[in-house]
Amino acid sequence: SVSRRGFRSNFVPPIKSNGNNAGNMSARNAGKCDDSLDDSTRKCLEILCGPDGELPEKLRNLEPRLIEHVSNEIMDKDPNVRWDDIAGLEHAKKCIDEMVIYPLQRPDIFMGCRAPGRGLLLFGPPGTGKTMIGKAIAGEAKATFFYISASSLTSKWIGEGEKLVRALFGVASCRQPAVIFVDEIDSLLSQRKSDGEHESSRRLKTQFLIEMEGFDSGSEQILLIGATNRPQELDEAARRRLTKRLYIPLPSSEARAWIVRNLLQKDGLFNLSNEEMDIICILTEGYSGSDMKNLVKDASMGPLREALRQGIEITKLKKEDMRGVTLQDFESSLREVRPSVSPNELGTYDQWNKQFGSLS
Ligand code: ADP
Repeated sequence: SVSRRGFRSNFVPPIKSNGNNAGNMSARNAGKCDDSLDDSTRKCLEILCGPDGELPEKLRNLEPRLIEHVSNEIMDKDPNVRWDDIAGLEHAKKCIDEMVIYPLQRPDIFMGCRAPGRGLLLFGPPGTGKTMIGKAIAGEAKATFFYISASSLTSKWIGEGEKLVRALFGVASCRQPAVIFVDEIDSLLSQRKSDGEHESSRRLKTQFLIEMEGFDSGSEQILLIGATNRPQELDEAARRRLTKRLYIPLPSSEARAWIVRNLLQKDGLFNLSNEEMDIICILTEGYSGSDMKNLVKDASMGPLREALRQGIEITKLKKEDMRGVTLQDFESSLREVRPSVSPNELGTYDQWNKQFGSLS
């Protein structure tokens, strides 16, 4: 057997605490408190301890600082996005309800033949709401949300990515139901380069696939969502594990209108006629959701810029005198805010969707 430095050897939950199971822990561990961990690390480990005051098996051999990083930076305790915040994508939402949300809510019904896949791929151009969908899934299913960008594993966590991945899956399994969202998953699970991958990135990839295999076969309530703008870079092993693959396309005309209306209404700035909205929709063909947001932001500056051009000082400007946002504001912003996705790129997504997508 492998001899690893046991986690318990350098961590003992604190003696003083008001938590529910704290009495239990402090009694067990009285006098054994380890001073080498600072308070925040200790607190974070304490939350993950079971009623017996012990850390779950999966976390015992991991470095406390990695567990702390996962708990504080990667875990989002309150992802406050709901389906209603996301424009369009009705078909994707319906599929996701059935594929992941209902199973997370009713594991007792979704077993056996109905057992859901544990891997979901969201692919499509950038800025179309993939991250929002991940958060909404966690929000709707009341699951803990973990967000990590795969490129940070290879760049920021050089040589440690593998350990961080173990900590990530370990903490997620203590926080079920859980949704792990891996952005830019292509940079982690890309096809092997012919001239040989870097050893550490190969190990990272292997570790990741092992972790996925682990919860796929078990009864754990963990969903892995990978997001990518470059699905064609994923290799066969990655595709196989991400059993559902949903194309998240650019927003339709209706969805673009919804984004404009929603953002302006939130600030009480909406004052456009249906005809003007129709024109904005025609002029924004090819814009992503995120482009639309930038456009609205810029257009909403229109009234302010005009007032300043007229020589009104910003300190003297009265909010109630400012005019609403007009079609002309949008027209001039359209010259500044250009679509970020090129039409050729869209062809690639369509093609990949036809070949590997779940809804083609
Ligand atoms: P992706 O993960 O696909 O790159 P995000 O989900 O991060 O895109 O979206 C970026 C921003 O663009 C969001 O915070 C939101 O403001 C806006 N956005 C994108 N798609 C939509 C959508 N379908 N509905 C509403 N807002 C959207």
